[in-house]
Amino acid sequence: MELRPLPKKWLFVLIWLSLSLLLTLIWSRLEHARLKDAFDKDTRHVYSMVSRKLDQNEAVVAAIEAQIASRQPLDIDALQRFSHELLLRYPGLYTVEFFQYVARADLDSFGATMRARYGQDFSVREEDPGRRRSWRPAGDYLDYLPVALVEPLNDNTRHLLGMDSWREPILAASIRQAITNDRTQASPPFERYPGERGYLLLRPVFASGSNTKPPPLLGVVALSVNFGRLLQPLNLDRQALGLSLFNPRQPASHPLAELFGSQADPHPQPWLKRLFGQEAVLPLQSEAQPFTLQLTRSPHWEELRWGTLLFQQLLLALLFLSMVLIYRQRSALLQSRAAADEALFEQRERALVTLQSIREGVLTLGFDRRIELANPMAVQLLKADGELVGRQFAECVHLRYELSDSLAVSVLDRCLSGGVPIELPENTQLLLPSGELRTIDGAVAPLFSRQGQISGAVVVFRDLTPMQRRARQAMEQSELRAREHIEKLAHVTRLHTMGEMASGIAHELNQPLTAIANYCQASISLLDEVDAPLAPVRSALEAAQQQARRAADILRNLRAFVSKRPVSSGLVDLNQVVANCLQLAEFDLRASDVEINLQLDSRPLPVRVDPIQLEQVMLNLLSNALDAMRENEAARRKLLIVSKQVDGEVRLQIEDSGPGVPAHMLDMLFHPFHSTKPHGMGLGLSICQTIVEQFRGQIGVENIPGGGARSWLRLRLAVEPGPIVTRRQGQEV
Ligand code: ADP
Repeated sequence: MELRPLPKKWLFVLIWLSLSLLLTLIWSRLEHARLKDAFDKDTRHVYSMVSRKLDQNEAVVAAIEAQIASRQPLDIDALQRFSHELLLRYPGLYTVEFFQYVARADLDSFGATMRARYGQDFSVREEDPGRRRSWRPAGDYLDYLPVALVEPLNDNTRHLLGMDSWREPILAASIRQAITNDRTQASPPFERYPGERGYLLLRPVFASGSNTKPPPLLGVVALSVNFGRLLQPLNLDRQALGLSLFNPRQPASHPLAELFGSQADPHPQPWLKRLFGQEAVLPLQSEAQPFTLQLTRSPHWEELRWGTLLFQQLLLALLFLSMVLIYRQRSALLQSRAAADEALFEQRERALVTLQSIREGVLTLGFDRRIELANPMAVQLLKADGELVGRQFAECVHLRYELSDSLAVSVLDRCLSGGVPIELPENTQLLLPSGELRTIDGAVAPLFSRQGQISGAVVVFRDLTPMQRRARQAMEQSELRAREHIEKLAHVTRLHTMGEMASGIAHELNQPLTAIANYCQASISLLDEVDAPLAPVRSALEAAQQQARRAADILRNLRAFVSKRPVSSGLVDLNQVVANCLQLAEFDLRASDVEINLQLDSRPLPVRVDPIQLEQVMLNLLSNALDAMRENEAARRKLLIVSKQVDGEVRLQIEDSGPGVPAHMLDMLFHPFHSTKPHGMGLGLSICQTIVEQFRGQIGVENIPGGGARSWLRLRLAVEPGPIVTRRQGQEV
């Protein structure tokens, strides 16, 4: 499985949670330590208190024992008084008892003494083995250990009087042990009265001053210790302490193992107990009461310093929040910086690629006029030997004016001092190391620092030599084409003029020749009527007639030949023909200061004609219009040229602002040799008619009612599919 990196947001949350957990852990450890300190203090206090109490118990028992031992015979009253005083002094004690040793022989006298002291109901008793707290008179035994004194004696304790301790199942073993070992001994714990758990601290008392070994037993002092009273002054509840006393000699599972147990909080919070619960197990140092003290505490909610935890967590949250904000700001800053870097890189890359690919040479200079950057074209144009970068501008770039030997005034200096872009002067020439001169144009622009100071300059220059060469060649070619075109046009014009002249002459001469032939025929007929025929005259006339007919035939043939010229045609756009003619006639039109209004159909106007011949027609009409307008010196010279497509026809109109066609010319416009011009041949319009009719079109010239003349021609719209042959001036179609 592919592991994807955690999104930043979740990473922050994770870190925050971890730190929060860590803080909580540290807080809980510190709280634990704090609670432990307090608990340890309480433990020490309780331990010393309990130890003192236990020592006190032993001291009390020892004191009573000493009191008994010191006063022989036994003085119960004195013992009672002594016990009473002790009990007053140590209010924690419960009862002091004395189990007196009574031999079987002394039982009666003992009974009598006791009855005298405590009343008639006193008897030495033992517990019925089958029934707890059920008494019966003591059996017949070798000796007895009945309770002879109970201090204080009250309704609760009175029933103990006369009880044979040796026959008491709980106490018997401990009493025997105490006697055997002659030492203070604690009995097992038991509930002496309902709800009051305790034990007896037993101490045998032997008669002093006796020589017998062991000395005779006087009895056993029993100090009844009640756990409740023993531990009461500790005020366990207030300290929220749980306390148990264990008997380490008993296995833990034994019912007598636990002497006493009190819980501080009967319903502790389990997790609070687990986290902050305290426990201490301390063996008490008393030999007679070798108990183990166990203290526990499970704290309450209120004991914990939640405020500190809350404050820490708030602080952490604030810290994190500010960190997240700082991080976000920083990453936004980084992002925008990266975007700016990217944009800068792209711009630089674009500028670099542009610099590398443009056809202009570019040099970037520092303020010290040292070249800092040179693009490939600059290197190529300057034809410098060696690296350009780092060298002085003046050292690498030598500028001159055309037709001047002096160095050009430094445009760079002017630019750097003026702080404005400066164009290289016209016809600036670059002197190459080889001595070759190249015409260049360009400019020098200043570079500014951020503070607005001039920090350098950019020089951009371009070699004009190839361009000039190309322009020259193009002009030459164009002139050549124009010349050829004009020549062709002149040739066609000549041909047409010749043809038209021949045709006109043939037409004009035909009549006189026919008349000559007819006159010859008439003369021959007249000669036949003469009596003396003049044979030589007749033959001469016949010869003249024959020659006249021959001449007529020659003329007829010539006319037929001229009219049978082959016609070449192609698909031509009439608008293009108009444009070509205007270009050809441009000089004349401009010289005559004619204002041209061109209204050409926006669509191509295809016609099937010979473009040169159609141009000739158009030029003829233009020339007539110009001639007419030149006659009218005062009037403004205006020419309106309209082309349009109407009902399958292509129409061209040329309207001039001349005086119009003289009235007498209107009927003879298309007749050859009719002209109103001083040097006019009167052939132009007849040639035009011949050409236009050749292409099955019509031509006409008419006067415009307001003044001026309108020449027009109509040609059939060519509908054949196929591309229109556009013929530019001078090009063959
Ligand atoms: P040419 O130009 O040699 O006179 P043309 O056949 O071209 O021969 O013209 C015949 C005559 O028609 C001209 O002499 C002129 O009188 C008349 N004419 C032709 N066009 C115009 C025009 N636009 N305005 C006035 N007269 C014209």
